[in-house]
Amino acid sequence: MQRLTVLQRRMSKKQKSSKKRAKAKFAVSKLHKQITNQRYDFQYKLSSKLIGNNQALAFETLNVSDMLKNHCLAQYIAVASRSSFINTLKYKAEWYGKTILRIGQFEPSTKICKMCGFQNKYLTLADREWDCPDCNTKHDWDINVAINIKKFALYKQNLICILHLRNEGMSLWTCEQWFKE
Ligand SMILES: [Zn+2]
Repeated sequence: MQRLTVLQRRMSKKQKSSKKRAKAKFAVSKLHKQITNQRYDFQYKLSSKLIGNNQALAFETLNVSDMLKNHCLAQYIAVASRSSFINTLKYKAEWYGKTILRIGQFEPSTKICKMCGFQNKYLTLADREWDCPDCNTKHDWDINVAINIKKFALYKQNLICILHLRNEGMSLWTCEQWFKE
């Protein structure tokens, strides 16, 4: 990515419609192509591995257009090219008879403690690690979210039971299965 910025800068400094500019433009498009190929190659390998090792995969539907407005996230999402990756996964899942489960974007997977179900409203995206104020479990943001997505997805499929729901809607969960993870 850094290399791309350097090449783009180099191109913009060359005089318009000059031979040098055309050459610099060619270098930029060549690198673009390389990056795209690497990305597809990576997605292809990762999707094969994920589909091969799992019977079902669960995803959260993210509001990408809103997230793209956030400058910090925008670059990350664009690089991750999430939708094309999910499409690759879907197609492979169909091919190999695996299941793709999706949960809605409003289910609070990001802020719920996977252990006790406490909803930590004060969490921000900057809190990559956090401690649950209720049960003191130490969390890695991504791992906690992944486990919650799995639970929500399985719950929707009636594959796990939610024994008891307290407080406003889904803010506090207690479930036998919840604690087994
Ligand atoms: Zn907790």
